[in-house]
Amino acid sequence: MSSDQDFFTLAAGRLTIEGRSRAGQETWFRVRELGAVLDIGRGADAAVGAPEIFVTHAHLDHALGIPFYAGQRRLQGMAGGRVFVPSEAADDFRALMRVHEKLEGVAYDIEIAGVAAGAVIARGPNQEVRVHAAPHRIAARAYEFVEVRHRLLPEFAGRGDLAALRRQGMRIEEPYRRSLLFYTGDTDRGILEGNEELFRAEVLLIECSFIADGHQERAARYRHIHFDDIAEFAERFENLAIVLTHFSRRYSRAEIRDQIRRRCPAVLRDRVRLALPEPFQIP
Ligand SMILES: [Zn+2]
Ligand SMILES: [Zn+2]
Repeated sequence: MSSDQDFFTLAAGRLTIEGRSRAGQETWFRVRELGAVLDIGRGADAAVGAPEIFVTHAHLDHALGIPFYAGQRRLQGMAGGRVFVPSEAADDFRALMRVHEKLEGVAYDIEIAGVAAGAVIARGPNQEVRVHAAPHRIAARAYEFVEVRHRLLPEFAGRGDLAALRRQGMRIEEPYRRSLLFYTGDTDRGILEGNEELFRAEVLLIECSFIADGHQERAARYRHIHFDDIAEFAERFENLAIVLTHFSRRYSRAEIRDQIRRRCPAVLRDRVRLALPEPFQIP
């Protein structure tokens, strides 16, 4: 891992995000506090032990690692493993896994689970994942991790007989939800125009493939986000941290840092982080 120039670990709000992300090369993230791996790149070792992988779309820089994940889990004797993918791509991923099983002469144990926009994936009693549409060149999803807590209904505040009421089956609490992380995957400015939740998650992990002048048209054509798109919506972001990911390899890491420093609207300056290693972080 030490030879990997793009590997990073960064603190964002209550979360620690590690991974690597360059457009057309590979993108994957692991968020320990959520027990979640987002995309799987070309086959990240760090993803193998995770029981669930949230793949945004089928482009190889995000999804090539799925067969590697299945094979490594089999080799290491790990049962199960579930990979979420856009529902439109699920059958083809299953067919791909069958080809790999045939090539290797083995049977994998992982499940490919197709998800549509609007789906809610339960992850234990205190977490759920909401699936969003992400406009891109192929079917793509964004994933929002939501913490589910329970609070006392106001009419029961201060009462001393709560335990008894609870025993009687009285509903004295209500659930409330807090959005911890919104991950866009690859998408274009359409997600900024059409998704409200994105602006409210504590941490926003958002693609920003293009940053330089003259690349705005290229961003639109390839269905990616340009930093100008983010700057245009600057007043809308309520997030504690906004982590920019998926930079085009046409930019050096120093160039990315310097460009973002220069272009970043004041209202975002303290909250923007880059999915790059420490010497290229801002501020
Ligand atoms: Zn990509
Ligand atoms: Zn893509």
